[in-house]
Amino acid sequence: MNELMKASCSECKGKLRRKTISQEFEREGAKVRISGIKAWVCSQCGETYFEPGGADKVAQAVNSLFALALAERQHKGRLNARVS
Ligand SMILES: [Zn+2]
Repeated sequence: MNELMKASCSECKGKLRRKTISQEFEREGAKVRISGIKAWVCSQCGETYFEPGGADKVAQAVNSLFALALAERQHKGRLNARVS
């Protein structure tokens, strides 16, 4: 709940801003895009910090999307999902 806990970037000491971001992942030629990821992003260098538990959520979403993409052989398409 304390949004001020993480106040500066450990790379450059820049200010972190809370953002909802999207990231794209590629595996075996399949591309998936996850949006709605809540993270802290450095306003100076762009380094991204996931919230506690956030990285796990994203990894799970990515894994299930890749499983779907590869099963459906949608190698040329791109799957999208949101986490919240
Ligand atoms: Zn930084």
